[in-house]
Amino acid sequence: MNVQNKVVLVTGASKGIGRAIAMGLAAGGAQVAFTYLSSVEKGQALEAELAALGTKAKGYRSDASDFAQAEDLVNQVLADFGRLDAVVNNAGITRDGLLMRMSEQQWDEVIQTNLKSVFNLTKAAIKPMMKAKAGSIVNITSVVGLRGNAGQANYAASKAGIVGFTKSVALELGSRNIRSNAVAPGFIETEMTGALDAKVVEEWANQIPLKRAGKAEDVANAVLFLVSDQSAYITGQVLQVDGGMLT
Ligand code: NAP
Repeated sequence: MNVQNKVVLVTGASKGIGRAIAMGLAAGGAQVAFTYLSSVEKGQALEAELAALGTKAKGYRSDASDFAQAEDLVNQVLADFGRLDAVVNNAGITRDGLLMRMSEQQWDEVIQTNLKSVFNLTKAAIKPMMKAKAGSIVNITSVVGLRGNAGQANYAASKAGIVGFTKSVALELGSRNIRSNAVAPGFIETEMTGALDAKVVEEWANQIPLKRAGKAEDVANAVLFLVSDQSAYITGQVLQVDGGMLT
């Protein structure tokens, strides 16, 4: 997958899947701009690690849920890198609970961080992409957005919303040569899933035909493909990276 010299902006890259995406892109020769929010030390460490791979890299502390910050971020990336070829909307959170007990705050935080963030950054990023007549947007959704999950009504709604958004952007901007796709991970070993209890993890693992949890790198490989020109004729799609879980 050729991502050489592409300028790619990845949100939420201080750990987990976002970090693996940033590392994979840099290993492939892409120039990587990335964001983080609370994990400042991890964000700064990643910048050094990416640079050590011999590519241009810069981290920005930016809250993905904030509309104004997204526009500032894109302007900063354009000033620092000169152009923007692809965006990976990865930042996400969970605030789980059964609907009976879910607070308005749990709902709002997840929708703002997981779904509104995708609107915020995509809207800002398509301006330079339209000028360049090229671009790739990759949004990280989840199998939970495709099938629902008890205890995650807020998260499932945010991830299902991303699917509708991704397909709409593909329809609106295909004529400008801007592609919009989503990746739907299944059960991936990261801090997010590390918080789950062992029984839940076992139940999930039993539903996976490939009989293992996914690695962040499994997701990163799919993202690299959708960023690269090897996927030039693919838009409006949701690529499941779930070991066959949702088949
Ligand atoms: P993670 O380990 O918890 O990492 C989440 C990342 O998002 C962190 O870098 C965090 O940065 C960042 N982030 C959170 N809120 C942010 C905000 N408001 N602004 C900017 N950055 C923010 O999670 P993960 O498992 O890697 O998940 C990454 C994405 O994959 C998420 O969208 C998640 O929903 C999706 N996903 C994960 C799985 C799974 O099994 N792990 C499955 C399906 C989908 P800070 O730490 O610096 O705040």
